[in-house]
Amino acid sequence: MAISDKDKFEVPPVKEVFSIPVIEVGSMAHSKPFVAKPEHQEPLGFPGELIDGWQDAAINKMGELLGKYRSVQVFLDSCVKCGACTDKCHYYLGTADPKNMPVARQDLLRSVYRRYFTLAGKYFPKLVGAVDLTEEVIEDWYKYYHQCSECRRCSVYCPYGIDTAEITMAGREILASIGIGQKYSNEIISKVHKIGNNLGLPEPALLDTLEGLEEEVEEDTGVAVKYPLDQEGAEVLLVTPSADFFAEPHVDGLIGYGKVFHQAGVSWTLSSHASEAANFGIFIGNYENMQKVAWRVREAALELGVKRIVLGECGHAWRVAYSFWNTLIGPFDFLDPNYPVPQHICEFTYDLLQRGALRINPEENDDKVVTFHDSCNVSRGSRMGNFPGGQFAIPREVIKAACNHFVDMAPETTHENTYCCGGGGGLLTDDLVELRVKGALPRVEALKHVIEEYGVTHMAAICAICKSQFAKVLPYYDLGMDMIVSVHQLLGDALELGNGGD
Ligand code: SF4
Ligand code: SF4
Repeated sequence: MAISDKDKFEVPPVKEVFSIPVIEVGSMAHSKPFVAKPEHQEPLGFPGELIDGWQDAAINKMGELLGKYRSVQVFLDSCVKCGACTDKCHYYLGTADPKNMPVARQDLLRSVYRRYFTLAGKYFPKLVGAVDLTEEVIEDWYKYYHQCSECRRCSVYCPYGIDTAEITMAGREILASIGIGQKYSNEIISKVHKIGNNLGLPEPALLDTLEGLEEEVEEDTGVAVKYPLDQEGAEVLLVTPSADFFAEPHVDGLIGYGKVFHQAGVSWTLSSHASEAANFGIFIGNYENMQKVAWRVREAALELGVKRIVLGECGHAWRVAYSFWNTLIGPFDFLDPNYPVPQHICEFTYDLLQRGALRINPEENDDKVVTFHDSCNVSRGSRMGNFPGGQFAIPREVIKAACNHFVDMAPETTHENTYCCGGGGGLLTDDLVELRVKGALPRVEALKHVIEEYGVTHMAAICAICKSQFAKVLPYYDLGMDMIVSVHQLLGDALELGNGGD
């Protein structure tokens, strides 16, 4: 096992795909993210620090959530301990800590639920595995609900469809409501409320970046592709993760979107008010914050008078938009009814490809053998296009149009069976690097397999978190950080630019 010099933890050995580790009790009991400070908690409507009477408050909050989200109660009541989920979580496979088995993660909340909300648990707690809500239990909640990326892989294999992600979200919401929020997610949500994006980039910085991109693309291609900001009357509002504005390989995806709009002859704009597609409200399980973040998109669309809203490459943003926007910020009766709301950039490009409206030279990518990492929130939390399985087929069709050499990873690790990158669900923070590296193991094993078998050189993704996570963790497994690419980078590189609209 290699030991990381920088982080002093053992990088798990890459084994045959699908091997299951022997349990190591407590192996990740030391892992927990930084707790949010009052300045990260209060703007979100949570108490600044652990409140007096936290135990009663937590139980009351649990009662409130059980009433509000019936699914949580159904999930807590219906597990039969069949064990089908135990080896399905990437964090269990990468850490061997039995508390990272989905059923064990659920039981952290279930045992407290039984104690306070079931008759048997009130009178015969030991018989039904019910426990009091103690400081130790809260400590375990904080640690292990931040070792779940809410990826929903376990739910695919559960015969009852129990979704551990929803239980994790409930656990995190209870914790935040008694003053123990997670710094990384809550700090980011506060920034969006205040400035409009996760990175806290103000309008002049955005403008500067976009002007720089225009110069770069013109220098590179000789064509004046525009990257407009706050353009009133544009047809399309593009809402994209703020990482697209500067991070690698994200920015190459943004360059690609601009080229596609240019060639399609469709006027488009970004917005400085809604300069973020990501919505970390979903990670902390709090719909009020999710709605407040999403509301900026509605305001921007109305203010700019656009006809359509297109989402850039971001997994959980797409899930929030596809599955929740209508309830959170609809109705969208002010937009053009001929187009879906929202529309994914891959859908937008796919439609043009289908109509033969783009000239592509895939030979531009002949130096690459590409595979595709399905992102959890796209695969299991939403769909895409107007046919079943569109969320799997459409991004692959875009890649195949742009690349002559494409291979899929093992079917047990793709489509609805995909493994999380290891950094989703609000865990993409440096205080959780060990968890992120270990959680990436199943995906890395599948990736190494296609590298060895087919000479894969690049892995494409349509999620900003996956891209950042892989750029960080692949080197721990002796793979280059530049292996991970944006789908629209591949497309943009193969697209033949003309004078727009041809
Ligand atoms: S939702 Fe994903 S991360 Fe959470 S327990 Fe299930 S498989 Fe693991
Ligand atoms: S697969 Fe479902 S029913 Fe079986 S142990 Fe896991 S959560 Fe419980």
